[in-house]
Amino acid sequence: MEFDFACWRCGEGNAVWGEPVTSWWTQRYRLPDEWDRWRCGEINATPDD
Ligand SMILES: [Zn+2]
Repeated sequence: MEFDFACWRCGEGNAVWGEPVTSWWTQRYRLPDEWDRWRCGEINATPDD
């Protein structure tokens, strides 16, 4: 599932892929701790849910 986060520097959205994690009671997604904004190259930290 793709999550859309806004880059702190340029404010544009960036799609971040979250790997599905199957558990018995809920569907969760494992997201990287940080990701590179492809356009401006800035490193962003993944915000908490
Ligand atoms: Zn940016």
